[in-house]
Amino acid sequence: MTEQLFFYNTMSKAIDKIEPVDDKEMKMYCCGPTVYNYAHIGNLRTYVFEDLLAKTIRLAGYKLKHVMNITDVGHLTSDADAGDDKMLLAAEREKMQVLELARKYEKVFFEHTAALGLNRPDIVARATEHIQEMIDFVKKLEEKGFAYFSNGNVYFDTSKFPAYGRLSGQDRTELKHGARVEQDSNKRNPSDFVLWFTTSKFENQVLQWDSPWGRGYPGWHIECSTMAMKYLGERLDIHCGGIDHIAVHHENEIAQSEAFLGHKWVNCWMHAAFLQMKDGKMSKSKGEFLTLDTLIDKGYKPEHYKYFCLTSHYKTSSNISFEALDAAKNSYESLISKVKELKQLASDNNAVDVEQENSCINKFNSFMFNDLKTPQALAVVWEALRNPAMPPKSKLNFIEHIDKIFSLSLEKIIKETETELVLPDEISRIIEQRQQARISKDWKTSDELRDVLLAKGYVIKDLANNQYQVFEKESN
Ligand code: AMP
Ligand code: ZN
Repeated sequence: MTEQLFFYNTMSKAIDKIEPVDDKEMKMYCCGPTVYNYAHIGNLRTYVFEDLLAKTIRLAGYKLKHVMNITDVGHLTSDADAGDDKMLLAAEREKMQVLELARKYEKVFFEHTAALGLNRPDIVARATEHIQEMIDFVKKLEEKGFAYFSNGNVYFDTSKFPAYGRLSGQDRTELKHGARVEQDSNKRNPSDFVLWFTTSKFENQVLQWDSPWGRGYPGWHIECSTMAMKYLGERLDIHCGGIDHIAVHHENEIAQSEAFLGHKWVNCWMHAAFLQMKDGKMSKSKGEFLTLDTLIDKGYKPEHYKYFCLTSHYKTSSNISFEALDAAKNSYESLISKVKELKQLASDNNAVDVEQENSCINKFNSFMFNDLKTPQALAVVWEALRNPAMPPKSKLNFIEHIDKIFSLSLEKIIKETETELVLPDEISRIIEQRQQARISKDWKTSDELRDVLLAKGYVIKDLANNQYQVFEKESN
């Protein structure tokens, strides 16, 4: 049995009833990180939204295939080849090979998303591992007359795709050279974009492949269309990203994919609004941005940031400040205290009220099934906790339910209070050695010992002031 889902669709500009294309499983593609630096907490807000979406779809009884790409090949700031190659600049800055750098930040990305309780997508596809498929895609666009070769690069001809601009509500012909897209005299139309580069202003561009057009590398947009189709087929239920992707990246993905397929590609386009700092938007390229590690260093737990994310709807832009984070921290910590208190009470009185439990669960679910209304869903949790007529055990059952979606480590806390984690002597000794290394700022040893602990089945999470938490690694 499946429940009805309603999500806001950027394409129809309305809340649409989601009708899966295929009754066996829903298909969702999310644009993934560009791995030349740490993801900032703004990026993470978008991944929190996508994880909530995936968990809500599954909660509604659907099977889901969730695919995400890793942009590990040069990502220019514009199609005109005029911006910086962020990957190359970062590799020079860190004196690393480009791919080595990409793997480093990909690893950290998944550590941060795991700390926020996000599941790894079912398929994580790296651009550099799908170059041949991208070449075949561009070849077919060329055969179908949608692509042209100009001064060393292959471009998509947007004049051949009349629907260009529908997602963002822009008229293609109104785009002027030098306005939104930087001028590139090789283009036939200002909105045209590069599918394959062989000429680049970066003479030391390291990642290059042979192609029918010469040695070069793919444009950014082509990677998403190619990998989405490879893993999800010709029709997608949902495609997501942050709102910055609407106007260029997703318009371009639609144009090349629908030109390739000859039919509609995606049913529902979903976009998360931005997280902003007081002084404007967060930007990786500006160099100054907050990461999850910055927050941890300042004494916050990943759950505090996760709770902060839940307090605003994904379609509303959210302003972060340390005051706002403190408020989320306080609410989360009182939630934890409440859960611990309920655990005590439930050990004396195991009575349940199934009707009340179900009513809370239904209310919570219905907010999530109707466009992921997390602030309202969170309010249902507090309402239940404050209800004197609801038995403690039922409150805990409800908390366990919501934690399957919100992933705030509440279930873990419920279980942990039942059985305190008893560490074997060997593990305690390694933790002690690691603490000594941390105190003397010997980060190399401390990292090595963290890996030793992980290999032995224990995850250690560093907190501020040399504090730490230790968990048994989950088998999944
Ligand atoms: P990037 O690694 O820059 O390609 O971005 C990864 C994801 O984060 C994309 O879905 C972006 O749309 C999204 N994003 C970028 N900046 C922000 C922000 N300040 N707030 C929320 N999401 C963002
Ligand atoms: Zn994409």
